[in-house]
Amino acid sequence: MANMSAKKNPMPVQEPERRRNNFGEVALGYEPEQAVDEAKRCLGCKNKPCVADCPVNIDIPAFVALIAAGDFEKAYGVISEYNSLPAVCGRVCPQETQCEGQCIRGKRGEPVAIGRLERFAADYHNERAGKHSGGQSGPAAKPKDGKSKQKVAVVGSGPAGLACAGSLAKKGYDVTVFEALHVAGGVLSYGIPEFRLPKAIVKKEIAGLENLGVEFACNTVVGKTLTVDELLGTYGYRAVFIGSGAGLPRFMNIPGENLNGVYSANEYLTRINLMKAYLEGSATPIQRGKRVIVAGGGNVAMDAARCAVRMGADVSVVYRRTEKELPARLEEVEHAKEEGIRFFFLTNPVRINAGAEVRLGAKGWVESITCEKMVLGDPDESGRARPVRLPDSEFDMEADCVIMAIGTSPNPLIKNATSGLDTQKWGGIIADEETGLTSRENIYAGGDAVTGAATVILAMGAGKKAALAMENYLSGVRA
Ligand code: FAD
Ligand code: SF4
Repeated sequence: MANMSAKKNPMPVQEPERRRNNFGEVALGYEPEQAVDEAKRCLGCKNKPCVADCPVNIDIPAFVALIAAGDFEKAYGVISEYNSLPAVCGRVCPQETQCEGQCIRGKRGEPVAIGRLERFAADYHNERAGKHSGGQSGPAAKPKDGKSKQKVAVVGSGPAGLACAGSLAKKGYDVTVFEALHVAGGVLSYGIPEFRLPKAIVKKEIAGLENLGVEFACNTVVGKTLTVDELLGTYGYRAVFIGSGAGLPRFMNIPGENLNGVYSANEYLTRINLMKAYLEGSATPIQRGKRVIVAGGGNVAMDAARCAVRMGADVSVVYRRTEKELPARLEEVEHAKEEGIRFFFLTNPVRINAGAEVRLGAKGWVESITCEKMVLGDPDESGRARPVRLPDSEFDMEADCVIMAIGTSPNPLIKNATSGLDTQKWGGIIADEETGLTSRENIYAGGDAVTGAATVILAMGAGKKAALAMENYLSGVRA
């Protein structure tokens, strides 16, 4: 019988007071009974409005019905036909603006908890599957043209690169992923913190790809260590996919941004997530600030702020618009508030100030930040109300660490080192939306490197589409 409760089954979580002091996962996942009960809220709509707003069009009513019937493995099977990283997406996708935003049950209450159910099915499968079996496991197929394996290079090991590599390896191509960092996974490994996305899940996905025969060449900065032109020439790769993300942090260009104790969110998060600076005895230095100010209002700002709380700081977020315009996921904002993070809306930093203190033999440590108040004006080109400064409204906030989380853009390194690769003025690689084809016939691109900072699922979708186009291109090429 359908469950007509207006509310979702609540997600079991670590209590705020406890989780403030650890990096363990906050959301603990449904038990089977909760998953079945939640799945019974789905009405199985014939026109499937939820599916239309899922970027990879997962057959949501089908997998939810299987969970309602207690057939969790089959539910996982349905999801993985469309999505190769369901344990990741079930945790980090902005479902409220995608599938759940369209769910019919959301009209008179809360939508079906589609994301939680996706996570449940993926975790259920992963807990039972072999330890090396991620969403991408399975035997590698023969190349479509029946010839010997053709070599394909993927630059960047984030969701775009992983999805592209997995799809091509399954078709029997000889895929090598070149990654600048020493660990694969892109933002999934270095950006999104352990308490939102346990790294064991990302490792499992990468192990699944290795099982398919994908090779990972880490510590390889394409554009420096070797170039895309060399991959296609000297090294004999037949095509290249660029999924190098948008990891170059933006700054506000205000006085004091070069002081000790000021970080870009990317650097702060990389030190914590990838270099494990939060562990006792870690060799990675980090400013364990007592009063941390985070500038920005997106997921990245929330992740940085919530990491700083776990590093023992009193944390405030300053954002130049109102709470309504916060771009971060609602759940992240709620979790941040529960963890004691304060929000200062309509507030914009104008300078960062140094104290007189000498520490580690150096001067120039952050002591405070000066902000000004804003009001909302007419909409800007993004359609959001433009924040306008309120005259004579400056005030100081005490701070010994400031984290800038105001956006990122693609690094120009690859563009500068690749002949004939066209990019937008802001740095995004120009690529066909359907195929990922760039201005060069054997170079494809997708994910944040093309769109600018976006989402995991969109990056994955772009990687998959490009893999299909590359396969078509390569199968028409005589070796
Ligand atoms: P990336 O994940 O950025 O991966 C690119 C990879 O390429 C990196 O590993 C990089 O080291 C490598 N690389 C770059 N240049 C080179 C080079 N020259 N040579 C070799 N390798 C190179 N999205 C969501 O959907 N939900 C969320 O909750 C969410 N939270 C986020 C939190 C943070 C802190 C951040 C930073 C982003 C978040 N996002 C979230 C956005 C999402 O993670 C990205 O949109 C997605 O990871 C983009 O995937 P990608 O594969 O295009 O790039
Ligand atoms: Fe089920 Fe909601 Fe999708 Fe309808 S819109 S099929 S109720 S998840």
